[in-house]
Amino acid sequence: MADFGLIGLAVMGQNLVLNVADHGFSAVVFNRTVSKVDHFLANEAKGKNIKGAHSIEEFVSKLSRPRKIMLLVKAGKPVDYIIEELLPLLDKGDIIIDGGNSHFPDTNRRYEELKEKGIHFVGSGVSGGEEGARWGPSLMPGGDESAWPAIKPIFQAIAAKSDGEPCCDWVGPAGAGHFVKMVHNGIEYGDMQLICEVYDLLKRLAGFKDAEISEVFAKWNKGVLDSFLIEITRDILKKDDKDGVPLVEKILDKAGQKGTGKWTAVNALDLGQPVTLIGEAVFARCLSALKEERTRASKVLPGPQIPKDAVKDKQQFVDDLEQALYASKIISYAQGFMLIREAGKDYGWKLNNPAIALMWRGGCIIRSAFLGEITKAFRQNPDLENLLFHNFFTQAVTKAQDGWRRIVGSATSYGVPTPALSTALAFYDGYRSERLPANLLQAQRDYFGAHTFRVLPEYASKELPAGQDI
Ligand code: NAP
Repeated sequence: MADFGLIGLAVMGQNLVLNVADHGFSAVVFNRTVSKVDHFLANEAKGKNIKGAHSIEEFVSKLSRPRKIMLLVKAGKPVDYIIEELLPLLDKGDIIIDGGNSHFPDTNRRYEELKEKGIHFVGSGVSGGEEGARWGPSLMPGGDESAWPAIKPIFQAIAAKSDGEPCCDWVGPAGAGHFVKMVHNGIEYGDMQLICEVYDLLKRLAGFKDAEISEVFAKWNKGVLDSFLIEITRDILKKDDKDGVPLVEKILDKAGQKGTGKWTAVNALDLGQPVTLIGEAVFARCLSALKEERTRASKVLPGPQIPKDAVKDKQQFVDDLEQALYASKIISYAQGFMLIREAGKDYGWKLNNPAIALMWRGGCIIRSAFLGEITKAFRQNPDLENLLFHNFFTQAVTKAQDGWRRIVGSATSYGVPTPALSTALAFYDGYRSERLPANLLQAQRDYFGAHTFRVLPEYASKELPAGQDI
């Protein structure tokens, strides 16, 4: 009888189950297209403690109880179809884990439906792509907590490790695991956009060649920006094609997206949280996709000329950019955790903030040294109101601020778009403003719509009492 069952032998499923077997657990696998089971067993899984099944009935019969069945199939309807097929074959107490990129409201629904049937449902974020799945992903499980003791030894064994600690812990109830994975993906959108803006500024303002930009990233990767995305960008920028033209310069500047960034931005709007950087990162991809329209606009809409000596002190510019990128990243993570905090309140989830930061510390696409600092901050104070209130981050943005402002200023003056760097700074200035012009806005709303307003305590009177809607 096998310890673990996996359905879905595409790239993620194959790699994850090989990882499971490497850690001493026996496994059984099944796939809709059954020929893939035989192919997998005869090739990649040869010699491993992995058995195959040619029907879902055979698959279920080969599992020890409580059955632990992980689905790594296309998100959406396929997950429901497989659950439907499994249900008549399972017993109360069995566990189904959806490891795909499911939208958390779907996971909420499946969790409720399966709870009624006595099946423990877990929605787990899996990050790190195929390499991660094979050698150590970041795993973000949430749902029915009574499943956790049974799956914990397997999940924590196969997960990436950061300073010896597994990048996997229990996230929270219902769809919390997939919610946190969604925010992770949103932050990934933001980190990628920030890096792209920095690359653009180095190219368009400082006149750096791709190989020189690669060297800048190589240096940054040894400092506070040390991260997977900086590392791969360093390598991408070094890739020359056969004709000597860097490969990246040959790529059409039209970004794609699968929707998880959009889900995060929409959820931020739903919960009323100013997660501006992820929103801008999604919109930046949308704007890039209008390639043909942008090409027409570039011929008729003027902007400032960029002089050859736009950047006089290149070293200073590079140092300012490092600070701008670092500070903007801090803002993005602060915003991400604001969203997580609000989701906890709104959905009634008790979420484990230090564990979330640790889960993102290794194995996943946004892994970075900086997440170690976030883990420390939340370990010191799990109820930290905002990352920006933690001394480490307060000091970091204070130090970064002059360079950050110079970068956003230059970008604006010379007409280079920096939506993510700029929105991060605008958020910072808004967040640190005791008084914002929302007084005028309330007056306008009241003027045309009788929406009422409240009066500041120092101006309160009998006619205008403080703290009440007038
Ligand atoms: P995928 O291309 O998303 O899905 C292919 C798998 O789904 C195949 O096993 C396929 O079976 C099965 N499938 C599709 N429709 C089905 C249906 N109606 N009924 C039963 N099975 C069905 O595979 P993937 O890239 O390995 O990703 C798996 C999951 O992990 C997805 O949710 C994905 O979003 C998530 N994920 C992927 C990555 C990544 O880097 N690829 C990273 C993190 C998370 P057949 O062989 O029969 O077609």
